[in-house]
Amino acid sequence: MNLETAFTMDTSSIKYGRGATREIGCDMEEQGCRRVMVVTDPHLGNSAPVAVTLEALRGRGIDAVLFDRSSVEPTDVSFKEAIAFAVDGRFDGYVAVGGGSSMDTCKAANLYATHPADLMTYVNPPIGNGTPVPGPLKPMMAIPTTAGTGSETTGVAIFDYLEMGAKTGIASRALRPIRGIIDPDNTRTLPKMVAACTGLDQLAHALEALTALPYHQRPAPDHPRLRPAYQGANPISHVWASRAVEMISRNLMKVVENPDDDDARGEVLLAATYAGIGFGNGGVHLAHGMSYPVSGMVRDYVPEGYPPGHALVPHGMAVCLNAPAVFRFTAQADPEIHLYCARLMGHDVSRAKPKDAGDILASAVIDLMRRVGMPNGLKAVGFGPQDVDKLVEGTLPQHRVTKLSPRPAGPEDLRRLFLDSMTLW
Ligand SMILES: [Zn+2]
Repeated sequence: MNLETAFTMDTSSIKYGRGATREIGCDMEEQGCRRVMVVTDPHLGNSAPVAVTLEALRGRGIDAVLFDRSSVEPTDVSFKEAIAFAVDGRFDGYVAVGGGSSMDTCKAANLYATHPADLMTYVNPPIGNGTPVPGPLKPMMAIPTTAGTGSETTGVAIFDYLEMGAKTGIASRALRPIRGIIDPDNTRTLPKMVAACTGLDQLAHALEALTALPYHQRPAPDHPRLRPAYQGANPISHVWASRAVEMISRNLMKVVENPDDDDARGEVLLAATYAGIGFGNGGVHLAHGMSYPVSGMVRDYVPEGYPPGHALVPHGMAVCLNAPAVFRFTAQADPEIHLYCARLMGHDVSRAKPKDAGDILASAVIDLMRRVGMPNGLKAVGFGPQDVDKLVEGTLPQHRVTKLSPRPAGPEDLRRLFLDSMTLW
């Protein structure tokens, strides 16, 4: 087997700063757009960020049409609805305003309206066909309103495939927004739990990008076009992810305690973007792979701060509940990088032994989870040992990320990891 010898560094252009949303009209005009689909979710339909976006676009004479039905947890059905709207609307540009779900929905709408095909055509194998996207898409810009998905800089769109009860997605560089607009004025209204979950998701993106299988230990692609977006840890993802870990560890608690702390909120938002650049190229691994069935199999858990009456394990929560067990498992592959991560999180590792690296990083993550009010393990969100077989079954198809584990993880390993994640402290 030939091993990989190259990696690429792709990212969106970033505009950062308070009030940057007001420039979206000029930004889209510069791309030659005259008719733009603005994608958001029903909760944000009447929000200030959406109003500012529509006003800025219309102020430049752009025909801006609002689609406010992106689902909080997108599915194949909700993707199809957005795609039909995009096809009908004959848009020449796209703007997403919202969390990862609005951005992912917008990417899908742009993709299938630009290169029409059956939904499964571009979806990651083994669930979809994994056909490479045939060419560039229409210009899309993303305006995140939560700090944590980093979706504004990645070419990935995730959704629940309802028929199979599985989370899957589309990953292609072509899906990457051409610009992310990071405006701290847009994240002021986040409930505590939403801020905590999205912040921990972002932390996990960075930690997983740092500890992922190094790119040169991955098999080489048969053709450069088949090189995956998630390439494994590399020197460039390392830089961005490292800084993100420091920024989030220092500021997340401040944001959760005091949403009016403008400086801390700005730092967390910027860190989400740094983490997005890091994992958008380096990738994530087991904590994310294991999170998909956790979110997908939720029964009746409703977190505070999220829409009432809708059972949900938020993405960031599902990821961090598995993360401590994962890092205890992966540390064996490279104790140094795990200790380095704990140091970035503010822990003194000067006298730490390599054999303790996994426990040390796991404790650092648990410590932050407790401080921001996360539930104590999978049990606290309604899972028990009887669910483990199903959880493992749901993780195995997530090749795109599980293959980037620095230690191969088979069904037995995954079983143990889920059991270790039932109670964390
Ligand atoms: Zn994530």
